[in-house]
Amino acid sequence: MSAESADPSAQCLQDLSLASRILARHGIVDGFGHVSCRDPRSPKEHFLLSRNLAPALVQPNDIVAWRISDAEPVDPDSPRGFLERCIHSEIYRQFDDVEAVVHFHSLDIIPFGLMNIPFKAVYHMASFLGCESAPIFDIADAFGPGTDMLIRNTTHGAALASSLTPNSTSSPTRPLVLMRGHGATLTAASLKLAIFRAIYTQNNAKILTSLSSLAGGTSQLEREAKFLSAEECAASEMSNSGQVSRAWDVWCKELED
Ligand SMILES: [Zn+2]
Repeated sequence: MSAESADPSAQCLQDLSLASRILARHGIVDGFGHVSCRDPRSPKEHFLLSRNLAPALVQPNDIVAWRISDAEPVDPDSPRGFLERCIHSEIYRQFDDVEAVVHFHSLDIIPFGLMNIPFKAVYHMASFLGCESAPIFDIADAFGPGTDMLIRNTTHGAALASSLTPNSTSSPTRPLVLMRGHGATLTAASLKLAIFRAIYTQNNAKILTSLSSLAGGTSQLEREAKFLSAEECAASEMSNSGQVSRAWDVWCKELED
């Protein structure tokens, strides 16, 4: 891994390109899916997201600055962006505490958006998910039965972002929304934490799937499984918060191998 740059903007471009490739290496994104962060030069107005490119291929010079207000490029001559970049712009517009966003279509997560089975923390590494099931955004509820399921504009993005509204004014923005027939979107207070959350959200999904099988079906899950309590989630999240860089460093090292 290269030494950290003294220029925070250059370091951010480097980290965002690494984040994109880490997600690809861990199977959280494939040819599709994306990760963004606020632009450190103007965090209230702009965010950074790659041009329209498969995540495994993203390098620092592929990253473009976009306006939070309307998801259009800051430089009108920028290369074409992702169709679903309004997912990112609308979350940054609605929630000041969100610094990074990941949108993904992982096969492990899709089943949990299709039916009402609990998606919450089953182990300490996913304690950020909490003890209440993640919300499910169903695009058909707001936009009817004939969409192509994609978040195509700011109206779609605003509706999705609203699913992340915290439970109270003192709570942080919810970390995850499942998207029926599409995937999921997660938020975090830093880019490295967003990657941590993406990887452990995927692991949580895998554990829940195997747990459901062991329990004899999803209907047995709530009855048979003892999920983490609210207190356990809070304590564990506090413990994990100091360990994010340790995980990030090894995931970056794996990219070199
Ligand atoms: Zn998508």
